[in-house]
Amino acid sequence: MTAFGTFFLPGPTEVRPDVLAAMTRAMIGHRGADFEAVYREVADGLRKVFRTSQPVLIATASATGLMEAGVRGLPEGRVLAIVNGAFSERFARIAEACGRPVTVLRVPDGQVATADDLRDALRRDRFAGVTVVHSETSTGALTDLESLGAVARAHGVPLVVDSVTGLAGAPLECDAWGLPFVLTGSQKALALPPGLAFAVAQPAFLAAAAQVPGRGLYLDVVEMAAFAAKGQTPNTPAISLFFAAQVQLRHLLAEGIEARWARHAAMADRTAAWAAGAETRTGVALQVVAPPGNRSPTVTALRVPKGTDPAAVVAGAKARGFVIGGGYGALKGETFRIGHMGDHTRDGLEGCLEAVDDALRDVGRRRPG
Ligand SMILES: *Cc1c(COP(=O)(O)O)cnc(C)c1O
Repeated sequence: MTAFGTFFLPGPTEVRPDVLAAMTRAMIGHRGADFEAVYREVADGLRKVFRTSQPVLIATASATGLMEAGVRGLPEGRVLAIVNGAFSERFARIAEACGRPVTVLRVPDGQVATADDLRDALRRDRFAGVTVVHSETSTGALTDLESLGAVARAHGVPLVVDSVTGLAGAPLECDAWGLPFVLTGSQKALALPPGLAFAVAQPAFLAAAAQVPGRGLYLDVVEMAAFAAKGQTPNTPAISLFFAAQVQLRHLLAEGIEARWARHAAMADRTAAWAAGAETRTGVALQVVAPPGNRSPTVTALRVPKGTDPAAVVAGAKARGFVIGGGYGALKGETFRIGHMGDHTRDGLEGCLEAVDDALRDVGRRRPG
């Protein structure tokens, strides 16, 4: 087994050994008091993470499942998809696959949509809902959900938020920011194994969803909410993953959500400062894709110079015992990514950055000219 603190993929992320071990607990039935107690502990813990007084929906699915559920719960009509990278692009594709007409509000990779961008788009046409990604994992850009939430609310259009690499790493206030539907997956900043997805739906979103035909069954937010009220799930859940979530939420609440946000901000700041000095140290210049002010605290995408293969940097880090992420989507050939999220620490990150430095020196030496 490798030591904790070596796996810096932007999802799945490294999972604490005691959280992994919780999954070896003996089975319990999913209809009954034993499971309900587990469900309630997990959901209550997550409410503090989502910053909501609403019930938390828990699906046995990857995050994409709840992206689809959110779209399917929107009133009938055209969806506005804010696209600023590969995951927000996926959100637009999901809406299309659900049979929705889609208008794309396109923002350059690394940038984020502003309140003015959204206001202009909402004035041009009528929309049933807006999809947006909080932390765009392909570029490392963080969207300001508070301001977009206010604009969408003023237009009476529900926002469906993917905070898969945001929640538990980046500040997010479901209730205070009036966000109608926010979803995440287990395997990113929550640092759980993949397989569960979590969402908060505000009452108005659920009331509107109940009127929408063709929501399907497995991904029906109305059905999930009805069962969540009983501390249950509509179908057999991944019970072992609930055991893991129960243990991880105890860790998370012991740290405190605000301390967790601060730890992630410190890791992102350190990564940016390290990148700024890369050329001096290694001969290879690195550019953080997202501009200051719009950077995600959980993931940094780094652009390498033309003629440098980012896959060689990833391979070099791996040879030194550290896993980082390659480029993703349109930026695949020009970037690599460091996932500084979950239970990693500012000090623990140093080993990873040193390994990447060594990999960059190797790559720099091999470069022609
Ligand atoms: C990882 C990720 C997803 C997809 O999650 P799955 O669990 O693989 O379905 C969606 N959106 C963002 C922003 C992600 O980082």
